[in-house]
Amino acid sequence: MIFGHQKNIRIFSQYLKEKRFPHAVLFSGPERIGKRKMALEIAKYLEGNHQESFVEFSQKECSCRICSSVERDQFPDILEIKEEQGQISIQKIREIRKKLSLSSPYPFKIIIINKAHTLSEEATGALLKTLEEPRGNTIFFLLTSMFNILPQTILSRVEIFRFSLLSKEEIKDFLKNFSLSEPEKEKIAEFSLGKPGLAKEMAIDRNKILYYNSLLETIRNIKRLSIFERLQTAEEVKRRNETDDFLSLSNFWFRDLLFAKNGISQFSFSFKKEEIKKESENFSKKKLKGIIKEIQKTKIYLLFSNVNQLLALENLLLKW
Ligand SMILES: [Zn+2]
Repeated sequence: MIFGHQKNIRIFSQYLKEKRFPHAVLFSGPERIGKRKMALEIAKYLEGNHQESFVEFSQKECSCRICSSVERDQFPDILEIKEEQGQISIQKIREIRKKLSLSSPYPFKIIIINKAHTLSEEATGALLKTLEEPRGNTIFFLLTSMFNILPQTILSRVEIFRFSLLSKEEIKDFLKNFSLSEPEKEKIAEFSLGKPGLAKEMAIDRNKILYYNSLLETIRNIKRLSIFERLQTAEEVKRRNETDDFLSLSNFWFRDLLFAKNGISQFSFSFKKEEIKKESENFSKKKLKGIIKEIQKTKIYLLFSNVNQLLALENLLLKW
């Protein structure tokens, strides 16, 4: 069952009905918003004998043999590729080619490439070749949160679909599946920042709510810290392996401050409305824009180079 992404679901449903789903698609959008989930649901729909439209199929749980097997990650004709140490090597593309050369009793071969922006240059070359060879019943799903850095050669060979963050209402709808109190639902809907994957994590482990809350407090306080304390904070974040969450929350927090500066009150963290308004008075618009840009730069920097993560974080925090 899929939450949100209704527009894409309707497009896919039409394609599937007309039996012309593209052989290679790129799902582009932030992490943990359900791109992989969508690929798996399409795989289920195609591999099993499903008569209803994909729109209908996507709004319920199917427990047929095929769907259950996909759900347990045990379906033999889905090959999923993941990065290792920040990169997808050519070896992984060889695995794909091997898979495609084998015969199978199932109607489709599904290849899912997670974090497609981490394909090495060699792997990209090999993948392009594979994409060029016509293979009737193979579907490639490339997933990425960094659309901008994928090479044009790849982009020109796939059909691109954008996935957006879910609305708070859609997240709350998703949270109906968990037994949570109303205040818990509200908190999770805000902290998950439109990402059902994150919302699920928090719904299963409530400590995560506290964790995000305290991380946000850390971010809010950095402005008041001395240089030495800022360096200490950077070290703490790195040591606890919180860098990704830290950067993601920081991004939304400073965006909220900029919104407040511009008189927009559609905040990501609306339960902190008063703090946001007060805090925004400590920054100029220019400063806030600069910080947001630096956060983005740090994210990309950490993705591409083996640069000392601590150094990058320290650098960032000293600029706030
Ligand atoms: Zn099914």
